[in-house]
Amino acid sequence: MTLTYLDHAASTPMRPEAIDAMMPFLAGTYANPSGSHRFAREARKAVDESRDVVASVLGCRPNEVVFTGCGTESDNMAITGALARTPGVAVCAADEHHAVLEVVEHHGGLVVGVDGVGRVDLDLLAQVLQDAVDAGRHVAVVSVMTVNNEVGSINDIAQVARIVRRFAPGALVHTDAVQAPSWIDLRDVTPHVDLLALSGHKFGGPKGVGVLVERGGPRIDPLIIGGGQERERRSGTHNVAGIVAMATALRLTDEERTTEIPRIAALRDALVDGLLDGLDDVVETVPRADKVAGSAHVCIAGVESESLLFLLDEAEVCASAASACASGAMEPSHVLAAMGVDRSVAMGALRLSLGHASTEADVDRGIDAVTGAVTRLRR
Ligand code: PLP
Repeated sequence: MTLTYLDHAASTPMRPEAIDAMMPFLAGTYANPSGSHRFAREARKAVDESRDVVASVLGCRPNEVVFTGCGTESDNMAITGALARTPGVAVCAADEHHAVLEVVEHHGGLVVGVDGVGRVDLDLLAQVLQDAVDAGRHVAVVSVMTVNNEVGSINDIAQVARIVRRFAPGALVHTDAVQAPSWIDLRDVTPHVDLLALSGHKFGGPKGVGVLVERGGPRIDPLIIGGGQERERRSGTHNVAGIVAMATALRLTDEERTTEIPRIAALRDALVDGLLDGLDDVVETVPRADKVAGSAHVCIAGVESESLLFLLDEAEVCASAASACASGAMEPSHVLAAMGVDRSVAMGALRLSLGHASTEADVDRGIDAVTGAVTRLRR
């Protein structure tokens, strides 16, 4: 049996071109890019060229790109770094990834509710910021994700930024855009924010490498201090192979986006329609018009996600219930809870996520496996 991979939101298979791009830096050019000899300069050149690629895809200047160790680090750096630079309060949306939510909560920050599809409630955001400012508090940073990792909903980051600039003018705007590059041209997002986080493994690059865009010069304190790499913003020897591979994957993702979106949307539609046709009492959690093309999220009555995932795993279908980090936990997802999805409905949540490697065969096998497993569980 072949593995059916419907979990691209958790991680994507690496693009062959990204693997090819990284190999010379694992097997050949192993020098430390901070060194002064020619071998080191070769490695540094690869990092600099990758920085140029990332900047051009994100619509920022190369010197605004900081390479990090992962998306989680980028998010932590944005929030903790902003608070370290200018003490105050951090604010985020209730359905943020744990890499943002836990950090904001750790620092005693404020959490803003979301609407029924998982977008931050803009009126509430304005109110929370106004109340904080009225109470004499400095809002240091506001973080709202570009695309939600569980249900795929999309925030209007330009609008979020306008509200922040109006109600808390001194605050930095951060967006976790980790789930966005395959679906959204970030050149339309980056100019509106101060800080933007990416992670290499969500678009065909490797794990363990990320980006934090820090626009307009250093505006936050570094999280990792040491050798002063990345112009003192993120110390630690560069993951040269990872950076080169991530940039290659990002460039391809950008080039293919306009043709991939309709292809993957058609696959996603076939997948969800197949489930709705084959099973009773299945609801789409977020309307397709409000979410990215690769996201299929349904709540299935009469089954529990855990048991469903178990049977799907037996059928060699990779799927998820909550976000990858939380899957396996009995608690319904904080994202669905924030959206107001009833706990009993949320217990039957299933996330199937498609991406650059998805095929029609994946969709057909996914429909068969889910309908088969749900029918078994309901019996
Ligand atoms: N933010 C979002 C929205 C994510 O989906 C993820 C990964 O699941 C992360 C942050 C964390 O990224 P990383 O796995 O690189 O730490």
